[in-house]
Amino acid sequence: MERVWIGLGSNMSNPKKQADKAMWSLSNLPATKLIAFSSYYRSRPLGHKNQPDFLNAIIILDTNLSPKSLLSHIQYIEKKQGRVRLHNSLLWQSRTLDLDILLFGQHNIHTSELIIPHYDIYNREFIIYPLIELDNHLIFPNGKIITDIAKTVPENGLDFWKK
Ligand code: ADP
Ligand code: MG
Repeated sequence: MERVWIGLGSNMSNPKKQADKAMWSLSNLPATKLIAFSSYYRSRPLGHKNQPDFLNAIIILDTNLSPKSLLSHIQYIEKKQGRVRLHNSLLWQSRTLDLDILLFGQHNIHTSELIIPHYDIYNREFIIYPLIELDNHLIFPNGKIITDIAKTVPENGLDFWKK
């Protein structure tokens, strides 16, 4: 069993409903057990500002799936929930559901389809602060402690998702 941290983002088609549904699907994956999930947060969009705020959250699972197999499962969940990209050529545009593997145990993975830890984990307030909520002693594969990383990450208006 490995402990896996998955980041969730949505800013379309009722984000709260998308998140609840995705949490349910993730906790029912084969060979996988739900450990915990964070509060739901509201973050300002990266890239294009002219789009709704994002709902972000993190879920912790224990799994016997391989990283590759977990990736296929989360991509299937994204697809099932009708992930739509509004403007194909643009980075960080609106989406119904984005699931990213943030950490997979203490593994470092660099393949053509997977980068773990997630490539932007050290910069995003909507990853770092939910991680702290779940485990403020968390240590990354490079030995860094979450609370030290947080010192360099501004909150950028991150708030709890209300309603
Ligand atoms: P983003 O999350 O950056 O907006 P996408 O969700 O569209 O981008 O993901 C594009 C690709 O990122 C996926 O096809 C997947 O192979 C790759 N990828 C690399 N590392 C990861 C990871 N840690 N978790 C999820 N996808 C990843
Ligand atoms: Mg993604």
